[in-house]
Parts: sequence; C-alpha cells; structure tokens
Amino acid sequence: VIQRPPALEKLLEILRSLPNVGPKMSERIAFHILRMPEDKIRDFIDILEASHAEVRPCPICGHWDDSSPCRVCQDPSRDKTVLCVVENSQDVQAVSRIKNFKGIYHVLGGTLSPLEGIGPDDLQITSLLKRLETEPIQEVILATNSDMEGESTAQYISKQILSVSAKIRGNGRPEGIKITRPAQGLPSGGELEYMDELTLTHAFDGRREFDRN
Ligand SMILES: [Zn+2]
Repeated sequence: VIQRPPALEKLLEILRSLPNVGPKMSERIAFHILRMPEDKIRDFIDILEASHAEVRPCPICGHWDDSSPCRVCQDPSRDKTVLCVVENSQDVQAVSRIKNFKGIYHVLGGTLSPLEGIGPDDLQITSLLKRLETEPIQEVILATNSDMEGESTAQYISKQILSVSAKIRGNGRPEGIKITRPAQGLPSGGELEYMDELTLTHAFDGRREFDRN
C-alpha cells in the first residue's frame, strides 16, 4: 500500500465526517477539490467562511438566516396565529413553497431518537411551548416527517401542547390551541424537504386534527 500525503489524508477524513459521505465519495470530492484552479478554490473557501459566519439560527423560531430575528419572524404579512412545527431549517424552505400557507414556523432541530440518545431536551421543545403561551397562536401544524421518529416526536409534542392549551384556556384564551397534522398520503418515511410542491399543498390543505393515542 502506497502511503498517502498527510494533507490528503486529513482532507479525506474531514470529508468523511460530512453526512452521507462514505470512503468512495470522499475520494471523489477530494480529487475534485485538488484539481480546482487557484481562483476557484479561493472562492470556495471564502464562501464556506462567509456562510458559516453569517447564517445563524433565529433566536425565536430556529430557522437559519442571515438576519436576526429571521426574515419570516420579521415579516408583518405573516399569519401569526398559525405555526408550523418542522424538524429542520430545510423543511421551512420546503413548506414555504406552499402557496396557501402564510403562517410562522418553529424548527425543532431534529427528532426524538432513543437509539441515538436524542431526548426532548436536545430539541427546541421548551422554546416552542413558551411561544405558545406568549404568542397569539391558535393552530399548531405538526409537520414532522412521517417516519417512526417523526411520528413519535409529533405524539410527544402534542401531549405537551395539550397541557399548555389547558393552561391558556384558564388565562383568557378559551379557544385554546388546535393541533393538526398534514393529511395522509405523505410517502411513509418520506422527508418533507424532498416532496414536490403539489403533494405538499394537498397534504397541508387536507390537514386534520391530530390523532393522539
Ligand atoms: Zn425566526
């Protein structure tokens, strides 16, 4: 076996730390990078640095943006009574393509996953419940993925919302908070961010009161 230069070894190692990049893919990307002309690699490094420095999670909803609060939270034309809960910032992008949805968002930052050791405290659930208490939100759409983790996360959150809802009913908001879930028909285990606009629109238009069990 011919020994690789340490610089290349390091490059391969950092590439393998990226999601879904295995040994083969890391080699392809590494050699693509090595062959890049000087000006292109400069641009590449500058863009990496700038995006990392400028794009941050919104302190209110958790959506990644270069303004703080994010442009959704700052947008006065948004319907502040309907809040869509999603797993990650890419999902916000996907839902934003639905023409009939003009509400606001809350990004959980993942799903509950006992196998990976991800519990409620690792997700933005406390901040969500706080928002429900203090903001005039009347409906929460639980738009987590339809895989097992997404479903159990929706179940867990709905129970938490129920107790917040009971609390605010006693505090002069008798309507409480309605909990809905996008309609069936989402591909099982399908990830929201890869769904086309029409399917998403149907799923949101046909959303139903969340079925707790
Ligand atoms: Zn925001």
